[in-house]
Amino acid sequence: MTENADLTSVLDRAAQGGRITAEEALELYRHAPLHALGRAADAVRRRRYAGTEHIATYIIERNINYTNACVTACKFCAFYAPPKSDKVWTRDLDDILRRCAETVELGGTQVMFQGGHHPDYGVEYYEEHFSAIKKAFPQLVIHSLGASEVEHMSRISGVTPEEAIERIHAAGLDSFAGAGAELLPERARNAIAPLKESGERWLEIMEIAHRLGVESTSTMLMGTGETNAERIEHLRMIRDVQDRTGGFRAFIPYTYQPQNNVLKGRTQATLFEYLRLIAVARLFLDNVAHIQGSWLTVGKDVGQLSLHYGADDLGSVMLEENVVSSAGAKHRSNLTELLHLIRAAGRVPAQRSTTYEHLLVNDDPANDPADDRVVSHLSSTALAGGTAHPELKLIDAG
Ligand code: SF4
Repeated sequence: MTENADLTSVLDRAAQGGRITAEEALELYRHAPLHALGRAADAVRRRRYAGTEHIATYIIERNINYTNACVTACKFCAFYAPPKSDKVWTRDLDDILRRCAETVELGGTQVMFQGGHHPDYGVEYYEEHFSAIKKAFPQLVIHSLGASEVEHMSRISGVTPEEAIERIHAAGLDSFAGAGAELLPERARNAIAPLKESGERWLEIMEIAHRLGVESTSTMLMGTGETNAERIEHLRMIRDVQDRTGGFRAFIPYTYQPQNNVLKGRTQATLFEYLRLIAVARLFLDNVAHIQGSWLTVGKDVGQLSLHYGADDLGSVMLEENVVSSAGAKHRSNLTELLHLIRAAGRVPAQRSTTYEHLLVNDDPANDPADDRVVSHLSSTALAGGTAHPELKLIDAG
């Protein structure tokens, strides 16, 4: 059999829902024709969502950044400041609760509590903040943090990750956002985040969380110089854990942004590489329900295309974002535009919950929500010229 015939047969098997090996996934990633790869991934998506395959989902959420102080100094990060730097800031609880109130007012359903590894913030800090948020806004889902934060807060408080997870879950954390995965294979991870826990440890902690009943999403940072084999190895590491726990709800790859960080943009993932990864992820991760296209880092047009390469979700209207936008992500959108992008890609938009239930199917443009305040505000605090009010008041109290 020729090499091409082999590739075609692997692609056919994957499109029909058969499991493929990591080696086969790498072959597809390297050599399968782009459109054929997209068609196969789309076939898998359609079968998985038969009956609702015409729908693509989105969520309305807000990232709440509580501090930029961080001891971990990742080389791709443009958000953090060393703890003793005069650039360090922290948000007090009142400020955080005001941001939550605005999220609720604007129809948001989820907050992502996101910040640096502050040298003093242990489990107690998160318990206090999550319980205050839940007390004031029980309807808000706290989908936040990841294994890196758990590892850090456990160390600060001198407890096990199990205890840290149980305590913050009891305080109000609903699910982990899966931050800090970056790249899980050892060489690629050490090259960009040498002070972070290993990829194996990241997965070990997520596995503990899943076993304790706290589900998560999983992420991947593309474009910092990792090899194709390392990209596929990242997927393999996630799939192996998922075979045991089933706790990853979604896989969300996004691309490295080149500004204001140590890596200086010397390497970047191309948009073709991103689309190929979305497609191979849909084919290879046969045990992960959702694949998210990330218009925020790759742009709206590539986000639309991702819906034809296996993605069933187009991310969010992020009412506030300061992390990837500090590194140069400038693709800003609003609810009206996001609905349009999904429709123009041939899908019916549906607002979803954190657990991917459809909250509102936007099947008639005449009934679209018309609140022009539901806009993504980027780099609103971390850089001069951010798009929100410097005090981040999204809603004019006057
Ligand atoms: S990515 Fe997170 S852990 Fe790494 S330096 Fe930035 S804030 Fe710190």
